[in-house]
Amino acid sequence: MKLLTKIARFMYGRYGTDNLNHFLFILYILVFIINLFLKQTWLFIIELLLVLTIFSRTLSKNINQRKKENQIFLKWKECITKPFQTIIKNWKDKDHIYKKCCKCKTVLRLPLPSKRGIKHTKCPTCKKRLTIFAFKYQKIEIIRNKKEK
Ligand SMILES: [Zn+2]
Repeated sequence: MKLLTKIARFMYGRYGTDNLNHFLFILYILVFIINLFLKQTWLFIIELLLVLTIFSRTLSKNINQRKKENQIFLKWKECITKPFQTIIKNWKDKDHIYKKCCKCKTVLRLPLPSKRGIKHTKCPTCKKRLTIFAFKYQKIEIIRNKKEK
């Protein structure tokens, strides 16, 4: 318990981890795995730089600067992932279909149809008629009760 309190006292006032650090850690693991096969010194230097950056950001006491860096990273991440957001949502959410309106760019969240195929709907904001290719559908389980004797 003394060690934990020492670590807690050491980390007091320091930044800790955030989304940018998580991304850097994943990048480090990728570079590490690639370097296991290639065994290049320049990749090893990149690994070292990544580890140093992660540790320096985690232990940094300049919290405002680290927050600014994280905000910039999040903006970049949003710019990159924004075109794929409906695809990501469709993949993650198994109970709804997400469709972006081509006229007003509103993302519609629709309930699953009972059958697979082409469906039609209307955008609530601009009233444009939309066509949806529904690959997902409601799976209805029929449960039969056994008659008791
Ligand atoms: Zn619309």
